[in-house]
Amino acid sequence: NELITFKDVVKEYGTGESKQIAVNHVDFTIDEGEFVVILGQSGAGKSTVLNMLGGMDQPTSGSIRINGEEISTMNDNQMSRLRAENIGFIFQFYNLLPSLTAYENVALTKEIVKDALDPSELLDAVGLQEHKNKFPSQLSGGEQQRVSIARALSKNPKIILGDEPTGALDSETGIAVLELLQKMCKERHKTVIIVTHNTAFAQCADKVIRMRSGKIREIKVNESPVPVS
Ligand code: ADP
Ligand code: ADP
Repeated sequence: NELITFKDVVKEYGTGESKQIAVNHVDFTIDEGEFVVILGQSGAGKSTVLNMLGGMDQPTSGSIRINGEEISTMNDNQMSRLRAENIGFIFQFYNLLPSLTAYENVALTKEIVKDALDPSELLDAVGLQEHKNKFPSQLSGGEQQRVSIARALSKNPKIILGDEPTGALDSETGIAVLELLQKMCKERHKTVIIVTHNTAFAQCADKVIRMRSGKIREIKVNESPVPVS
């Protein structure tokens, strides 16, 4: 079942002399439950694709459908609703609120989404049962990223997006975080899409979308993706 479709998507920034084509006639589809890695070097257009996927940015032309809805013509309110209902975000630098504990950071979702999942269960699921009452400053980078994964899962979204989610972690911790994401994807039937320049992540994805200079260079489907560890 197709969950996401990009059709002839173009994103330009600026006009005239300063015009930048960040995404240049891009087509792809993503199925429900897929673990997708968007690979490419800096400037390839990966974040722009992810931002459009997350409803944070709209294409200059082309069609983007998420969960059957055309988002290229949505207004701000419709985009906010789409984000709130369908999408969880994980960031390179975690974006946790420093004055709140791990538990409180995850529990915040309850104020935004009525069917939010139980923070305590989610923190257990990401292996942080011992750390629920700690503040972000008392946690390692890998632990903070686990909190942010629990937070992303808490609104029970269909889609989880990560922009270089392991970018601030050492490689061992990064692999553990990737492994957790892969596990959450399979066990909770989430569609997980991460952007990275780390080519080592390609082997664990169901689908690899390789970009360069705003264009898709290759889309590869792994029939038997390798578990991360
Ligand atoms: P990546 O995530 O692969 O590093 P980006 O999607 O961030 O690539 O950027 C793709 C291209 O679009 C780059 O040339 C970048 O400079 C340009 N770009 C991205 N965002 C903006 C913006 N807000 N304004 C102008 N140019 C942008
Ligand atoms: P609203 O428009 O309803 O105020 P928010 O700005 O609170 O929506 O954002 C909704 C979701 O989108 C949140 O999960 C937030 O983390 C994410 N988000 C908002 N802006 C950005 C951004 N620039 N980059 C990445 N994620 C963002």
